[in-house]
Amino acid sequence: MGPGSEVSAEDFSELARFWSKEGDAVSIYFQAPAPSEMAHRDEPILAKEKIQQQLSKLQGVGSADRADLQRVVETIAQMKGNHRRTKVIFACAGKKFWRAYDVAGDFGVRMEVGHGFALAPLLAQQQTRRRYSIALVDRHQARLFLLEAKQIVEQVPVLEAEEGEEKLRTTGARKSVHIERKKEERARQHFAYLGDALLHFREHGDFDRLLVGCRDELWPEIEAALHSELKRILVARFAIDPGLATQEEVAAKAQEFIDERERKEEQDLVEKVAGAAASDGLGALGLRAVIDSLEKHEVRALLFPDSHDSRNRTVSLCSNCEHLREGEVRNCDLCGHLMHLFPCAEEALLRHALGRSIDVRMLRSAKLPPDQPIAAWLRFRADRNTAEALAS
Ligand SMILES: [Zn+2]
Repeated sequence: MGPGSEVSAEDFSELARFWSKEGDAVSIYFQAPAPSEMAHRDEPILAKEKIQQQLSKLQGVGSADRADLQRVVETIAQMKGNHRRTKVIFACAGKKFWRAYDVAGDFGVRMEVGHGFALAPLLAQQQTRRRYSIALVDRHQARLFLLEAKQIVEQVPVLEAEEGEEKLRTTGARKSVHIERKKEERARQHFAYLGDALLHFREHGDFDRLLVGCRDELWPEIEAALHSELKRILVARFAIDPGLATQEEVAAKAQEFIDERERKEEQDLVEKVAGAAASDGLGALGLRAVIDSLEKHEVRALLFPDSHDSRNRTVSLCSNCEHLREGEVRNCDLCGHLMHLFPCAEEALLRHALGRSIDVRMLRSAKLPPDQPIAAWLRFRADRNTAEALAS
């Protein structure tokens, strides 16, 4: 599977519905260790150690089947680095259920045992993943890379300056003004062609964001050739030698800017939502307010922390109508069916959100108030008209 491989919507919906009465549903995220961590160590042994560390942190693990855990360790042992991808496993021996995925992205090592599977990290990562096109440009050629979930691929050699280059070069010291002008004109055409090609790829949905690497003195000319849509999605322009840079250097350089931008966007979103919640605008803060907004179909995006801070905030979800209630409720007060209790609030909320065009965002750096670790960005307020809410 390539970096673009995803867990399908059908799989998510099946995983979300899964429920083990016995509480022996095992969820594992195992990101292959970085090579530096691997020095002189055997990956299977490291895998076993990390899983045992996680196990010792868990309560009620007795219910997880030993055979399941053995199979997990064996599966991870076969990863052999896995290009730093994460092996994600959802298993339940009691119900003979087993799903394993190779997923790109940052997950670290997590393990949970419970009645349902831990889907929040996977769903959030998949929804917020973006494809970045990186164009390394000089006067005569361009190299294009696609970076997604920290996996970089150099795309087919493209956009070489065509014929005539040799002829120009052989004129040596006696370059005339005429030839200089011709070279400039050719570079300009090359930048224009590049700008058109990038716009074309963008319009076909080949990437979401753009980064450009070039020598400083070329940037004004390249920038001038970029369509406004490309400028809109431009994350950064950085200095690099397009001919010499290795793929690893390009990835590292681009990732710095991407991380910075994502941190900033996340911070802005959290501030916007918290501000809106305080002023009765398009934000909801705290579990009770978020559940209320979800049930009124107001929610555009769910926000929760990348930790288990919300673990003690249990939420019950109706197994039939997806009605949500704070805390433990046995039967749904709307339809009477059994409710499923989730120890981690976001797991219940995201199950309610699935299939309803609601984004699920796991916050990596920005912080919600510790006493209200869950928030929602709203499309509208059901109790008011939208214009009024937008104006607030
Ligand atoms: Zn119900």
